Amino acid sequence: MAQNDDNLFKNIISHAKEYGFIFPSSEIYDGLAATYDYGQQGVELKNNIKEYWWKAMVRMNENIVGIDAAIFMHPTTWKASGHVDAFNDPMIDNKDSKKRYRADVLIEDHVAKIEAKRDKEIAKAEKRFGESFDREQFVSTNPRVLRYQEQIETINARMKDTLGSGDLAGVKQLIEDLEIADPVSGSRNWTDVRQFNLMFSTELGSVADGASKIYLRPETAQGIFVNYLNVQKTGRMKIPFGIAQIGKAFRNEIIARQFIFRMREFEQMEMQYFVKPGEELTWYEHWKEKRMKWHQSLGMGEENYRFHDHLNLAHYANAAADIEFNFPMGFKELEGIHSRTDFDLGAHEKYSGKKLQFFDPQENRSYVPYVIETSIGLDRMFLAVLAASYQEETLEDGSERVVLKIPAPLAPQKVAVLPLLKKDGLPEKAMEVFEQLKYDFNCQYEEKDAIGRRYRRQDAIGTPYCITIDHDTLKDNTVTIRERDSAAQERIAIDQLNDRIADLVSINRLLRQL
Ligand code: ATP
Repeated sequence: MAQNDDNLFKNIISHAKEYGFIFPSSEIYDGLAATYDYGQQGVELKNNIKEYWWKAMVRMNENIVGIDAAIFMHPTTWKASGHVDAFNDPMIDNKDSKKRYRADVLIEDHVAKIEAKRDKEIAKAEKRFGESFDREQFVSTNPRVLRYQEQIETINARMKDTLGSGDLAGVKQLIEDLEIADPVSGSRNWTDVRQFNLMFSTELGSVADGASKIYLRPETAQGIFVNYLNVQKTGRMKIPFGIAQIGKAFRNEIIARQFIFRMREFEQMEMQYFVKPGEELTWYEHWKEKRMKWHQSLGMGEENYRFHDHLNLAHYANAAADIEFNFPMGFKELEGIHSRTDFDLGAHEKYSGKKLQFFDPQENRSYVPYVIETSIGLDRMFLAVLAASYQEETLEDGSERVVLKIPAPLAPQKVAVLPLLKKDGLPEKAMEVFEQLKYDFNCQYEEKDAIGRRYRRQDAIGTPYCITIDHDTLKDNTVTIRERDSAAQERIAIDQLNDRIADLVSINRLLRQL
């Protein structure tokens, strides 16, 4: 079924709601912007993604351990990490529409429009010249393409200069020079650009007690850094070693859109790998490769992933890359891999006055370890799985179905047990099968509606296997097992069911590929 990506995205969002994956938060009060709740199927899928990540990081690596730090942390943590002073986005308001925007995003969108014009010019020429088209030559000589390219580079350079030096008046000047208009109202009546800190704050203790301002953590990483020494000492860890964590993070994003891609409350799965200074770039390459392998093992299409190496590095990083995924709105960041040097541990040493070092017996000296970080958004991963697995299909018999081809080990329900009819002792027999399977797998039992409709419902939530109990089952203890993607059916003995299904849906199958 051909449809544009916008429509596809809308269909995915409504499917996610209709089948209990994701609901708008507090929907009976019309929802809360950029906040979502995971429903009965969503929570299972989310837990399975977490389990796969946790096992791949912690269980598969003898030198990586996990922690679960508190969301609240001592406020000085965020001073040391730089978040109090520098975790800002530049924002600008339109005085007529009263809409708020991220200044850098307005400029980036403007650049994207010029890029689209350039690409259109190239595509036109490609069509005109056909086989004989020499792209490289065209791009480097065509006056229009060159002019667009020059505009893009000039704008990017000005944006980098002004944002990099905190010259907010310069950012506004750039918006005015480019004559950027409010995408909603078309007005060019802008306020000044201001910095907006993305951290949520609240008060600890009652006011009478002398309340103090604390923050909801904007990343889970700092909970790992402040526990570096606790874990290293109590776990007798030797460098290199890693600490992994899954948990909530909060960011007061100025514009939060695109469903669960950018939320104000979200979950991260982060791992900090502590290494000897000088060896960090080798480990950086190692983790880039390992993380890409983790993604690719899911079989959601190699062409849907790519690396985006950062050219403009944050002041604390000496290498950084994103793993981008081909979301319905295009390639976007799914995971970041950063070589963060000794910036964080060094800053916490300075602010806390505590030594955060490792005594290296081979070198007979202590040093502050360098850190490679892998940081993936759990919700973005969820969206990637949902988007890659959502398909609208016409089956051989001409019927249409929406199916979620979720990798079986991540599927919320592994098996549905379905008596063919609601009589003749079939439901009772089906319940026996359900009882046999439920210790090993998340199963559903369904007896309402015709079998075809029940298959459709299971396809829609991505259940990899449906087991049907019919009259033959009562005679010979065999059942039909139907596979979701191919819709192929096979007869199998009840006492073989657990082994057979385990083999197909086990997370171990994925782990062995890593
Ligand atoms: P972006 O550039 O998209 O804002 P970021 O570079 O700020 O992301 P990091 O600080 O590197 O992101 O966070 C690591 C990961 O956390 C990201 O790769 C992403 O998957 C996830 N993440 C960050 N912000 C959000 C958000 N607001 N909602 C959902 N996931 C997020």
